[in-house]
Amino acid sequence: MKITGNMVNYYFVCTRKLWLFSHQIQFENENENVRLGKILDEKSYGRNEKHVMLDNVVNLDMIENWSVIHEIKKTRAIEPAAEWQLKYYMYYLEQKEIQVTKGILDYPKLKQRFEYHLTEKDRKKLQSYMENIKEIVRRKTAPKVISQSICKSCAYYEYCYV
Ligand code: SF4
Repeated sequence: MKITGNMVNYYFVCTRKLWLFSHQIQFENENENVRLGKILDEKSYGRNEKHVMLDNVVNLDMIENWSVIHEIKKTRAIEPAAEWQLKYYMYYLEQKEIQVTKGILDYPKLKQRFEYHLTEKDRKKLQSYMENIKEIVRRKTAPKVISQSICKSCAYYEYCYV
């Protein structure tokens, strides 16, 4: 099973979302995609590689010199999900023998950025998360709704509640 960065992100947001997305029940959030595209094309990101897709698994917002990965987010609402998505990308590239020195979570609207380095502890945690993700995706039925405030901004809101 291929585990994508989105799947790692959704694992931390909501396991039901992970399951629905992995079973091809997908509602693209066009506004968000357009918005991120605009941010990426702003001058501040210069001439670095943008929108880099590897193996249909890793979808990097930006990479500097094939060494520093940037993941760009609008808000810090679900920061662990963004952090582990970024670390998963670092881990995945490492497995491909691409030497990533650090990852950066960028919040352009907030004018904030945070740096991360992949540790041995992170690698072990990621391996465990990947096993958990596989187990959830293999389930025959979706996990229950979580009834959290984040549901209101989720693309699956109507699917889950209406
Ligand atoms: S609406 Fe809520 S329960 Fe449904 S997938 Fe989204 S986050 Fe999960």
